[in-house]
Amino acid sequence: MYISCSAIQKILEIPDEGEAVVAGYWSQELGLCSQPTILTWKEGKVNSIEPLNLLESYPNSILRWDSYFLLPGWIDAHVHLALDSLDFYQCLENWAQPCLIEENMQGFLRHYLERGIVAIRDGGDLPGFSWLAKNRVNEGVWPGPKVISVHEAVNRVGMYGRFLGRGFKDILEWQAKERDFFDQGLDQLKVVVTGLIRFDDYQKVGPTQWSVADLKELVNAAHRLGTPVMAHASGDEGISMAITAGVDSIEHGYYMTTRQLERMREKGIAWVPTVAPIGNLLKYPNDRYSAHEINTLKRIQEAQLTKIQEAYHLNVRLGVGTDAGAYKVPHAESLYDEIDWMIQAGIPKLEVYRMATHENARILGSPELGRLDVGTPMSLLQLANDLG
Ligand SMILES: [Zn+2]
Repeated sequence: MYISCSAIQKILEIPDEGEAVVAGYWSQELGLCSQPTILTWKEGKVNSIEPLNLLESYPNSILRWDSYFLLPGWIDAHVHLALDSLDFYQCLENWAQPCLIEENMQGFLRHYLERGIVAIRDGGDLPGFSWLAKNRVNEGVWPGPKVISVHEAVNRVGMYGRFLGRGFKDILEWQAKERDFFDQGLDQLKVVVTGLIRFDDYQKVGPTQWSVADLKELVNAAHRLGTPVMAHASGDEGISMAITAGVDSIEHGYYMTTRQLERMREKGIAWVPTVAPIGNLLKYPNDRYSAHEINTLKRIQEAQLTKIQEAYHLNVRLGVGTDAGAYKVPHAESLYDEIDWMIQAGIPKLEVYRMATHENARILGSPELGRLDVGTPMSLLQLANDLG
């Protein structure tokens, strides 16, 4: 078996049973400890976590992880495995060569584990590459993090999202095909509620694709099957409609308002604010955008960080998701950017760690993830080089 060692960006082979000394640990369950600690595991699961008694002699067989801290593995709540973060249009052309995409995805998956990321939620792609990746990982054929996949998104034909889903003419066409759609398999239902934001026009968002009644229909269909709903939504109208329809999480949510945050808290809806797709364009300069666009991006990013801080103080459920695969949002690395953006928004570091583990696990619908306690599988943990 293995454990992710984000401190040196490697996947370490370990025996099923063993003992190690670590520099300390943190988890939502156990709190923070920055004292040397003895960790034991049996049958691949944590058996004990005890302070190191300096007078006690311990066996030579003990693993010296004394410069690493033990943490729950990270979770990225929003990625697109089928996109390469380099060139969107070229990548869509490459989809005609599935072998190439499968090879890319295997590299991304390995990379996630090397960076301590043990689970990801994929927001979908029309050919179903992420669904394939999820199955390969589950079968043990491809090493990788646990993949929660929406398979294919639900969008309106002729509107934003043609790479995410086939597109439905209207809710009647959806209803006619609903059964087949669900039979394809999915972990969550992704609904494209609005189009994209514009980098050259502050506050402007691509059109809303469904009525509130349509959205309720989609949400209820998923909920009847016990399937959570993630909504791609930005702008006042789209976000309000998604909240009213009772989705489980709002993805992106640019131009969020205070009133909407309050309603989300009341309804227990999580927000995954994906700062990286905007922030990384500013953080890693490139010559693709005009001065006007850069200015607009800055305004969007600042507004987003302000609202994230507000959401934190209002006690809204906040997830950490990157939209990895989008331009300049590289798989795995970008989760570290996103964690930094959340800290820059003014959220204490360990609170961001809680969001990137414990809260993200809830958002994925997999509460067994994002934990460190007796009984946690070693493969769901990571050895990190700092505690914040
Ligand atoms: Zn996305």
